[in-house]
Amino acid sequence: VKSVVIIGASHAAAQTCVSLRQGGWEGDITVIGDEAVLPYHRPPLSKDFLSGQKSIDDILIRPAEVYEKAKIDLKLGHRVGSINRHEKSVLTDDGQVFSYDKLVLTTGARIRRLPIAGEDLEGVFYLRDTKDVLAIKAKAETATKAVIIGGGYIGLETAASLRKQGLEVVVLEAMPRILQRVTAPEMSQFYKRIHKEEGVEIFETVIASEIQKTDKGLSVSTSCEKTFQADMVIIGIGVIPNIDLAETAGLNIGNGIEVNAFCQTSDPDIYAAGDVSWHYNAIYDTHLRLESVPNATEQAKVVAQHINGTPKPYNSLPWFWSDQFDLKLQIAGLSTGYDEVIIRGDAETSRNFAAYYFKKGRFIAVDAVNAPRDFMFGKMSLTKGVNLDRSKLANLSIDLKNCVA
Ligand code: FAD
Repeated sequence: VKSVVIIGASHAAAQTCVSLRQGGWEGDITVIGDEAVLPYHRPPLSKDFLSGQKSIDDILIRPAEVYEKAKIDLKLGHRVGSINRHEKSVLTDDGQVFSYDKLVLTTGARIRRLPIAGEDLEGVFYLRDTKDVLAIKAKAETATKAVIIGGGYIGLETAASLRKQGLEVVVLEAMPRILQRVTAPEMSQFYKRIHKEEGVEIFETVIASEIQKTDKGLSVSTSCEKTFQADMVIIGIGVIPNIDLAETAGLNIGNGIEVNAFCQTSDPDIYAAGDVSWHYNAIYDTHLRLESVPNATEQAKVVAQHINGTPKPYNSLPWFWSDQFDLKLQIAGLSTGYDEVIIRGDAETSRNFAAYYFKKGRFIAVDAVNAPRDFMFGKMSLTKGVNLDRSKLANLSIDLKNCVA
């Protein structure tokens, strides 16, 4: 019997195994994951799961019965320590060997630690998995003040979730503005205003330099001479792809595990999908490592199709979302390298608008806040390679469908 082994019980894993069966794979499927939980949706961790509206059962990608029925063997709570490409097998840290015909690496990413003193103190948290959030939730029950280090999406979502639970929340951002890496200044301004209106304090160009334990809790020293007191500190400063297994096994590595259009690594019997993969995107004519659920899911389907002998190259438009307070942000495309932004709607006083990004006159991405039509229109235009008319977009009285260039 042929065998597929998948490492990492992640979004991409949950999709790969189901797509394999749907596509007719009759061999064995084994998923080995180091978390002791069934594969779950990670996005709610900083949103509904943190704020208490969703339980672990609510965030499972699929119930246990689906895997049982599909004869998918889930080995949870086991970590793979090495890959033997010559023998075509993997070895877990507890000494089990699994042979494969095809191996899929969906090892995702792990949190980046902040290299300052005190980042490992009790009451200081990072946020990547359910264990992290359960600890944060437990602490938040008695805490009154939280400091969040990092004003990216995860930091801001965490700020919103804790604020909703009544905590006093401060966000410290090292760069001159929150979301600087990923959005236009108008978007950063907008989110800063909303957080302020909701009672979250945001400090920009402030670098946390040390966390200390005090009689009352924790104290965060910073570059601005101001010290912030808190009962809990949450650090959200990004992730590092889990490439170690692949690297040791001698696979090609870029900013992640290098894969071709079928998600094959430099070893044709080994695939990689999700946050850990570094792939070429034809729409943007560049290599990318994306940290998003849609990417993990799409790449997983590509892997399964290739293994099943019905190959279809990966060619998806990146898209993403973020929920904070009553704001649903939907992002289509990648704004990296933009040179012009057109705001459609009122970003200064309202809670819904869209930012359309252009590069050398070409439409490349849209950030839509409580504006699902803009998101859909932008996503469709990008997928079809349709350019948009900047002057028309800025004019709300012109319907979107008439904004094509
Ligand atoms: P991951 O979800 O990273 O899972 C990889 C798994 O592999 C982990 O369980 C890991 O422990 C395991 N593993 C690693 N190495 C080994 C090994 N050697 N042996 C066994 N197991 C191993 N994306 C969105 O699109 N929208 C959002 O709103 C959004 N919000 C997010 C909020 C938070 C708080 C976080 C943390 C992420 C969010 N993301 C969001 C990103 C999204 O969750 C990731 O892109 C997605 O989880 C990637 O899935 P993946 O399949 O690559 O692997």
